[in-house]
Amino acid sequence: MQPYIVGLTGGIGSGKTMASQWFEAQNIDVVDADLVARKVVKAGQPALTMISETFGDWVLLSNGELNRRALREYIFSHPEAKQQLEAITHPLIRNEIEQQLAAATSPYVLLVSPLLFETKQTELTQRNLLIDTPEELQLQRASQRDQHAIQHIQNIIQAQMPRQQKQELADDIVLNDGDLTHLYAQLQSLHLQYLALAETN
Ligand code: ATP
Repeated sequence: MQPYIVGLTGGIGSGKTMASQWFEAQNIDVVDADLVARKVVKAGQPALTMISETFGDWVLLSNGELNRRALREYIFSHPEAKQQLEAITHPLIRNEIEQQLAAATSPYVLLVSPLLFETKQTELTQRNLLIDTPEELQLQRASQRDQHAIQHIQNIIQAQMPRQQKQELADDIVLNDGDLTHLYAQLQSLHLQYLALAETN
């Protein structure tokens, strides 16, 4: 039987990881799109061979791993390369996500993805939850966590889908503007709803 799949998304520093860890603590299986994206380009994976054949051996470190920094910088100065890269990785990421979702055994399963809406991963989900956080808090929390300059985080926020657009696309919105107790209380009531929805799925 197809599992009931809830997508979870949010901008940088919005609290996706904190929220997904809470669901995991309730024994809900979590598929993490970021982890899958890293897995498909590991040394020896077909995607990495295709990437080095497309761009050149300079994308590989001496240990055979992907040189992420070099590729990131190349894409920055060659915007067309981003599409080429995504044409290689996206189908493989999608396939691995689908396999992990299908292997889930909890009453429902969470697909955590920063690009849930942008990469149409909503085709895989029955319901979508946005962790929504005011920009000042995103800046404060993400810069504290990563020791990055505020300006760097701001640039990332600017490049992401606008908050309002995500609010329009989400079925459920958790406003993560308070302490963790406030976040978890909202997640608890959604968890009960998702259990009920999965039951009647
Ligand atoms: P990214 O997309 O950048 O990986 P994320 O959406 O996964 O971010 P988290 O890592 O969960 O965000 O949260 C960002 C930071 O803010 C973390 O250090 C986290 O502990 C903290 N944080 C999240 N929510 C709260 C909260 N309600 N109160 C206090 N700190 C919080």
